Amino acid sequence: MALMTGAQYIESLRKLNTRVYMFGEKVDNWVDHPMIRPSINCVAMTYELAHDPQYEDLMTATSNITGKKINRFGHLHQSTDDLRKKVKMLRLLGQKTASCFQRCVGMDAFNSVFSTTFETDEKYGTHYHDNFVKYLTYIQENDLVVDGAMTDPKGDRGLSPSQQSDPDVFVHIVEKREDGIVVKGAKAHQTGSINSHEHLIMPTMAMKEADKAYAVSFAIPSDAEGLYMIYGRQSCDTRKLEENADVDLGNQKFGGQEALVVFDNVFIPNDRIFLCEEYEFAGMMVERFAGYHRQSYGGCKVGVGDVVIGAAALASEYNGANKASHIKDKLIEMTHLNETLYACGMACSCEGCPTKAGNYQIDLLLANVCKQNVTRFPYEIVRLAEDIAGGLMVTMPSEKDFKSDVVVGKEGETIGEICNKYFAGRADVPTEDRMRVLRFLENICLGSSAVGYRTESMHGAGSPQAQRIMIARQGNIEGKKGLVKDIAGIK
Ligand code: SF4
Ligand code: FE
Repeated sequence: MALMTGAQYIESLRKLNTRVYMFGEKVDNWVDHPMIRPSINCVAMTYELAHDPQYEDLMTATSNITGKKINRFGHLHQSTDDLRKKVKMLRLLGQKTASCFQRCVGMDAFNSVFSTTFETDEKYGTHYHDNFVKYLTYIQENDLVVDGAMTDPKGDRGLSPSQQSDPDVFVHIVEKREDGIVVKGAKAHQTGSINSHEHLIMPTMAMKEADKAYAVSFAIPSDAEGLYMIYGRQSCDTRKLEENADVDLGNQKFGGQEALVVFDNVFIPNDRIFLCEEYEFAGMMVERFAGYHRQSYGGCKVGVGDVVIGAAALASEYNGANKASHIKDKLIEMTHLNETLYACGMACSCEGCPTKAGNYQIDLLLANVCKQNVTRFPYEIVRLAEDIAGGLMVTMPSEKDFKSDVVVGKEGETIGEICNKYFAGRADVPTEDRMRVLRFLENICLGSSAVGYRTESMHGAGSPQAQRIMIARQGNIEGKKGLVKDIAGIK
């Protein structure tokens, strides 16, 4: 099958019987739901841009399995050049959507499961790698979206999976059958899960022998029997339900999506299993997936940062403050921070190396440094954007006020005329344009898109401490001590 278009992707979702719940009720037509649709539009962009000749080199690749042209989101990285192109592709999509376009978790899972299954088979003589290559071929041939799902709800953080009072807070095997396994549990904050055709499940952390029932990786269609999702709400999300909502949304068309995915005794056939109790390999899968996704943030968050910087610059222009030297300096600072993130994303890609299975892995230390910076710099970029935007970003009346023809003034002025008069900036800029850019900043700094830019920068791909553990492990302090001993003559 050829590469799908955005419209074909949206139609393909309608054929799925994915069970979605929101506000305590089942949502039947979730594809057209005004709170969900922006997140679907975002994924659709990953399909649309693949058909645009100017982005072909970034958005598509040649499959090393079939030799056919595929969407890069389904690709196994074959070189450091592929790793760099991935980062550039994510920056491009961040620029086009100002949001989380969700499809990267699948790509990052493909690359980590591919290499980990190879090494598991090498040790145990299992057939997980073959299973996975067949599965990925199916994904590539049908140009599907896959939710790479790692994060379990985790219950009491002081206890291991097998010590929890409720065993289901980590996904685990409840039954082993001749033809497959039955799993129970849930995955939390699943990016784009509802918009995915398939789910690729990985363990959430390194496991010991006692936790071997939790060392499980498998793939399953999103509408499989026993699988359902509960939508995660976002700040100001019900604005999307307002009649004719436009300006007040800030980002009218695009948004991210997170949900709780529940596995209620779901059967997984043998050929869809990629890890089953080989607990020593859980840590490898986690580390590799986290590494790839921490690289990803050096692309997607940078692209969104480009839009935030653009919005701050426009806001200053619209109110006539753009020539002030401190505004120019703040825009420079924002750019410096944003490009530093990009530099980290590119650096960990350039320093990548092949795995035993043949696909390319990023440099783990640099990828973790990349994500650690992402837990900080977007916050500073947002702080500067709010500084430049001014308080009107959070005090401005609604779009309905700006459009109201209810008379309030002694000379017959309407509410709309009064709002347009007093919230005007430069005389040659329509007040509505000023509103639009301020609402955009509100949306990205505090509203529904803050999930995808601000808080996701903190916790997505692992919270800051998770990177610090990896930085400690990879930082080679012993080697550094050796350096000083050599120079200072210490034996
Ligand atoms: Fe992709 Fe970024 Fe969203 Fe992760 S946070 S799925 S890398 S857009
Ligand atoms: Fe994320």
